[in-house]
Amino acid sequence: MEFRRATREELIAWDREIYWHPFTQMAEYEPLIFERAEGCELVDIDGNRYIDGVSSLWCNIHGHRHPEIDRAVREQLERVAHVTALGCSNPTTIILAKRLVELAPPGLNHVFFSDNGATAVEVALKMAFQYWRQCKPPRPEKSLYVALEGAYHGDTLGAVSVGGVERFHAMFRPLLFPCIRLPAPDTYRIPPEIPREQLAEYHLGLLEEVLARDHERIVAVVLEPRIQAAAGMIFHPPGYLAGVRRLTRKYDVFLIADEVAVGMGRTGRMFACEHEDVSPDFLCLAKGLTGGYLPLAATLTTDRVWEAFLGRYEESKQFYHGHTYTGNPLGAAAALATLEVFEKEQTLAKLPAKAEYLAKKLEPLREYPHVGDVRQLGLIAAVELVRDKGTREPYPWEEKRGFRVCQVARRHGVWLRPLGNVIVIMPPLAVSLEQIDRIVEAVTRGIEEVTAE
Ligand SMILES: *Cc1c(COP(=O)(O)O)cnc(C)c1O
Repeated sequence: MEFRRATREELIAWDREIYWHPFTQMAEYEPLIFERAEGCELVDIDGNRYIDGVSSLWCNIHGHRHPEIDRAVREQLERVAHVTALGCSNPTTIILAKRLVELAPPGLNHVFFSDNGATAVEVALKMAFQYWRQCKPPRPEKSLYVALEGAYHGDTLGAVSVGGVERFHAMFRPLLFPCIRLPAPDTYRIPPEIPREQLAEYHLGLLEEVLARDHERIVAVVLEPRIQAAAGMIFHPPGYLAGVRRLTRKYDVFLIADEVAVGMGRTGRMFACEHEDVSPDFLCLAKGLTGGYLPLAATLTTDRVWEAFLGRYEESKQFYHGHTYTGNPLGAAAALATLEVFEKEQTLAKLPAKAEYLAKKLEPLREYPHVGDVRQLGLIAAVELVRDKGTREPYPWEEKRGFRVCQVARRHGVWLRPLGNVIVIMPPLAVSLEQIDRIVEAVTRGIEEVTAE
């Protein structure tokens, strides 16, 4: 079978006029059409090559068209592309569930699959809510969530309710459920009266006030462990996550860890929670789970939660939630192969050297007059541009400084997507040192050009 053919001009026209892109102003959209990819490089329809500097939006891990992952998907195709998970199963997804439980922080013994990051969070929110209505004795007064300012948990309405990115979320407020919001423990913008070394304690104090007052009404605390990605790569102080775990246990409130962005090796550990030996009650995974190949997500949880949903059919305790492509075997095959490649290629063992190299290369940027901060954990790096380095005053977002830096980088063969004034550098874990050089070089050129005015 042949797909319908199109000329280059038709593709560009249809891409502008028919294809509605997410988080994109279509009136200003300039088509950039990637046709294929190899390893850590993307190739557009004109044959231009770009390093994939943000892992195709934070999801690619071992590079594109990795032979092992390609093969696993092909082999799965020869068995079956999709069977439902509603009341039945398939071997590939079962084995993936088992494997995830082996890898996850201790106590997360059960896996509920879905198909994207937002749904992984929705599942956790709803499971936690239902848990408190089915536990013994039931706690139906628990119906509030605690989340952080700047939080991003996806675009469906439950995920947006706990989300805190005002520019994306404010308009939808009338549709959302209320949520107790705490300031983000931001290690770059610290309240002036708080000494840096007391930042974690200060924010834990704020959380404890809320929990002490309202724990009987609180379902869960939801957060992105260590790094609030979409907020602009806000880094939390060490100790905060472990402190949140301690407090949520003390007040018998669930901890939902959204590792959709930071999981799967990005921060140097398979899961960011491992940095602080934390086992959450719910662990949400997506993005890198399939190595960036296919839409698949997972919400892992504990025996305690699982057991509250067991009962006779007539008791109606089952979890009435599921997506048609939940646990899709092709996605599961890609995920299993991704995990195998982690072992085979010793991806995590090789990461510190790459991370150190990237850090060393980024170091000179700190001296630039409009670079307010350079921060990094594993292979997540962020360079924050500011109008005033002393006051940390940001450039007005309408000036699109970050976006313009990325446009310059693109001319130098590196594809990046910023978060406002923050240049995100988050290449596949398979990136080479030479590619890191080229990324930093392109970013540096961009910053020089765009902050010269
Ligand atoms: C991207 C992201 C999501 C949403 O994932 P989708 O697959 O886009 O729905 C949720 N949480 C975090 C932390 C993310 O970075």
